[in-house]
Amino acid sequence: MPTAAYHTLGCKVNQYDTQAMEELLSSAGWETVPFPSDADVYLVNTCTVTGTGDKKSLQTIRRLRREHPQSKLIVCGCLAQLRGAELLDTGADLILGTQFRNEVVQLLSRVIEEGKPICAVRPLESGLPFEPLRISRQEGHTRAVLKIQEGCANRCSYCVIPLVRGPIRSRPLPDILEESRRLADAGFREIVLTGIHLSSYGRDLDSGISLADVISGLQAVDGILRIRLGSLEPTIVTRDFMAAVQDAGKLCPQFHLALQSGSNSVLRRMRRRYNTSQYLKAVDLIREFLPDAALTTDILTGFPGETEAEFLETAEMIRRVGFARIHVFPYSPRPHTDAAVMPGQLPDAVRQERARKLIAIGEETARAYRNTWLNQETELLPEEIVDGCWEGYTPEYIRVKLNPDVRCCAGMPVRIRISSVDHPTAVGEISE
Ligand code: SF4
Repeated sequence: MPTAAYHTLGCKVNQYDTQAMEELLSSAGWETVPFPSDADVYLVNTCTVTGTGDKKSLQTIRRLRREHPQSKLIVCGCLAQLRGAELLDTGADLILGTQFRNEVVQLLSRVIEEGKPICAVRPLESGLPFEPLRISRQEGHTRAVLKIQEGCANRCSYCVIPLVRGPIRSRPLPDILEESRRLADAGFREIVLTGIHLSSYGRDLDSGISLADVISGLQAVDGILRIRLGSLEPTIVTRDFMAAVQDAGKLCPQFHLALQSGSNSVLRRMRRRYNTSQYLKAVDLIREFLPDAALTTDILTGFPGETEAEFLETAEMIRRVGFARIHVFPYSPRPHTDAAVMPGQLPDAVRQERARKLIAIGEETARAYRNTWLNQETELLPEEIVDGCWEGYTPEYIRVKLNPDVRCCAGMPVRIRISSVDHPTAVGEISE
């Protein structure tokens, strides 16, 4: 049987897309082998959200080409969509744009038959349907990523993603429910709803449904015990939204609200669609409905023209919200974006130094949040045995391991008391 190995860079949406392509190739007879073992075909699903994403993607492609000159090399994902035929210079055999993922088998066969490289990349126009990608397996056995939305209509001044992911496409609700039932039958108990801009779910559908309707619909799926949300925009957090999600008993109290900057002037230059007071209002609403919720975020440091005072506003905002986790990215200019040609581009050393400072503040707030859980009771969904101990996540996404003598089953929740809040894995005991 011919073999194929897969490597994904970037976000959860990319992980989902890779898994869907793996399933298509595997049904066509390509046996999956772990990356980077020897394989007849390598598929690299690239990322271009930051300069680092580009660099890592290109390094992986070039290394594979050098080390496996006889294998076929498929390059897909956001960098493939952005650079297109230019990437044929890397020696790749198939450049697969984001509209052609579901044709991966046919295009690979053509590459093999014709013995020459193919670039299948087309501009992403409006009116595209949600592509018919499906998955039935995932890594691990309790938590599955479910992609319900593609594309973004925002034009944040620093972001190249709308260009490579195209317009908003929402997956119809019956299709989401059908896939979640299949995942439940396969033993998954937790579903992570993901998309490129999850908050805009439903805007392109005539049915008038929204993300809150998806969450409500999933309540009725037997076997799914938890629903977790991917990144949200703060403006989706209204009193009605919180009332709807609170009723949805399965929703995990963990909210990733992208902040990017704690300075209103920077947010305006970034063309984000909220300001800091709207952001704080969303935080207050979440805490009013779900006081113990974990709040996580993304921050960009060293945006063009970011002054020291603006940077300090972001530092202050991180402390004020008390995030349970932050992801900090030093700004990197992306091609075809307005921010790349804005005046006041800062030296890389400044962007990196500011990132280091914010990471340190984020570690303080994360520690403080974890400390609030010491000796508290919560629920654990056991996932796997690591070094003789069951480990899993709480609804707030705290990784917890149980003592070695505790017996449980993957996917069967247990009540626990957290006895130590060590990082990255806390310790819990079964509560009486
Ligand atoms: S919301 Fe902004 S940052 Fe997020 S994908 Fe859309 S354009 Fe990019």
